Amino acid sequence: MSGPILVFVEHASGEADRVSLETLAFARGLASSLGGVAVEALLIGPGAELGPSLGAHGVATAHVVEDAAIAGVYAPGAWGAALASLATARGAAAVLAPGSDRGAEVLAHAAARLGLPSAANVLSVIPGDPWRLTRQRWAGSLLEDATLDGPMRLLSVAPHAVPVDERPGSPAAAIAQFSPSVSAADLAVRVTGHEAPAAGSVSLSDAKVVVGGGRGVGSAAAFSELEELADLLGGAVGVSRVVTSNGWRPHTQQVGQTGQRIAPDLYIACGISGAIQHIVGCKAAKRILAINTDPESPIMSVADFAVIGDLHAVLPAISAEIRRRRGHGQ
Ligand SMILES: Cc1cc2nc3c(=O)[nH]c(=O)nc-3n(C[C@H](O)[C@H](O)[C@H](O)COP(=O)(O)OP(=O)(O)OC[C@H]3O[C@@H](n4cnc5c(N)ncnc54)[C@H](O)[C@@H]3O)c2cc1C
Repeated sequence: MSGPILVFVEHASGEADRVSLETLAFARGLASSLGGVAVEALLIGPGAELGPSLGAHGVATAHVVEDAAIAGVYAPGAWGAALASLATARGAAAVLAPGSDRGAEVLAHAAARLGLPSAANVLSVIPGDPWRLTRQRWAGSLLEDATLDGPMRLLSVAPHAVPVDERPGSPAAAIAQFSPSVSAADLAVRVTGHEAPAAGSVSLSDAKVVVGGGRGVGSAAAFSELEELADLLGGAVGVSRVVTSNGWRPHTQQVGQTGQRIAPDLYIACGISGAIQHIVGCKAAKRILAINTDPESPIMSVADFAVIGDLHAVLPAISAEIRRRRGHGQ
């Protein structure tokens, strides 16, 4: 029988994240099509307390890296090196990672380290020689049939490709400490701090209303008009990539393929043209209102409502009307 399927599991506060649990479910299905090979997990960071519970997700052994030099800080090179060396030591048949930002980054480093190809955002696998895959491209706008070959197959699993498969009462996963050796160069790129959002602010992912701003807003200062409307509606401000590239707003507010995917009840797209890379981030909104001077702008093809006009006139008028109806005057 061939080696195990090794899964990189992201976790925080003693819980595996959802996309990692989906990846374990995917691994369980793949393991049975490979003739019942074992599924093993790699947890980096204090995870020994979480490890046994992964048995309910099909994990036979959870390998835990607790060495503070690696586990205490997210360093993609070091984490990728750890994944590659464990995969080699275990003779893994396949290495899987969740299709999250971090999962994709760690897997890419592991693949480079191993000198092997990897496939991102996989939806399904038919093992054979080579493996035949279906995977998402262009943030899910296209599906691609591809093949993957090599002595060890590396792939990330597209978020929500399969549901979580938890089977209570399964045997607990065994815990094995793993101490990879990493060099100073592997730790050269690492996260040095986290910035918490301001207390009381509504997060983009939870907001029921998102007021999105693009190049048409014109300047960092003019975002005060969007903030005012977002505050009145209890919502959050989101932006296009042009806005973050111009340094008008932080990347944490970017919506799209290389930003956040949002699903508010209402997305108000102001001065945003509607490039496909932006739309993939907001297409799950229940309703889209576009405010744009250009009636031919591509955003119109996905908008439920539109105001053709200058956002600097339209937004203050909407805010003033909301305040008037609430009885607060201008
Ligand atoms: C690999 C890759 C990944 C990308 N990822 C992302 C991503 O995650 N998110 C993202 O947003 N983009 C992303 N992009 C960039 C994307 O292709 C577009 O360039 C970008 O979304 C355009 O931003 P915009 O709509 O703000 O600007 P523009 O396309 O320049 O549109 C500006 C709009 O404002 C309107 N306008 C101008 N003045 C006014 C006014 N006064 N009032 C009302 N309307 C006005 C114009 O009519 C126009 O429609 C990515 C690109 C690539 C290649």
